[in-house]
Amino acid sequence: MKLDRLRFGPAGYPIDSPKERAFSYLKEIGLDGMEYQAVRSIPRRESTLLWIRREASKNDIALSLHAPYAINLASESDEKRKASVLRLIRAAKAAHKMGAKHVTFHTGYYGSMGREEALKVAIKELSEVAKEVGDLGLEVDLGPETTGKRSQIGSLEDVIRMAQEVDLVVPTVDFAHIHVRDGGVLRGKADYERVIQELEDGLGTLDGLVIHFTEVEPTKSGFGERMHHEIGSGYGPDFRPLAEIMAEVRPKWLVVSESPLLERDALKMREMFLEAVASLSHRFP
Ligand SMILES: [Zn+2]
Repeated sequence: MKLDRLRFGPAGYPIDSPKERAFSYLKEIGLDGMEYQAVRSIPRRESTLLWIRREASKNDIALSLHAPYAINLASESDEKRKASVLRLIRAAKAAHKMGAKHVTFHTGYYGSMGREEALKVAIKELSEVAKEVGDLGLEVDLGPETTGKRSQIGSLEDVIRMAQEVDLVVPTVDFAHIHVRDGGVLRGKADYERVIQELEDGLGTLDGLVIHFTEVEPTKSGFGERMHHEIGSGYGPDFRPLAEIMAEVRPKWLVVSESPLLERDALKMREMFLEAVASLSHRFP
């Protein structure tokens, strides 16, 4: 999505404010983004969508939208693939109406097709979605998310490939998922740098990405996520090295806090970023 600067916000309405005041509250505490959660159902009411649009714009909150979990663009059932395409288009329509410029979604599962074939099928369906979104003039990116389970389409390589092959596709980069998908791979700054380099090489730019971040407890095997934890819980991955990279590179990202503490941790991440900026200007005055 087109972004003017690095922005921070929660995944869903803030926990510390009534919904009616959500957007002005985010602005008051110093945040400037939010990912609307349409993970179970897509809001239909015109008045709701327009209210969100008005409030977000008035308070300078950049919006993305998380589409329903019930999407599988690589299902072996024609019917289920078709329903997934329609659901994603409906999510894009709602996003457009509420002024969200990016639609995050989980692409689906490799299933028995295996990686190559499933990815090919998903790319074909995604091209249908992109064509419709273009024909309808909806101003949204389509954001396949990096996923935490190895049975799911959504390795870093997968989402980059989708972006290369389908118009309008800009990945949603979930670092917690990248971390647990391969058994805890983000241990230090160099690991983040590798991911970011891969994104820049694959996409040609780092700007415009939606980033998900939370600390995460892996399953017993060490692969896949068990549950999200707050920033500083010790589970990792550690946000600080990423904050340092952000301070050095200044990418135009929407950073979405998926921690159980939502906006409180979005603020914590923003503080860590500002600290990194300050220490950088201290080192290179
Ligand atoms: Zn997600």
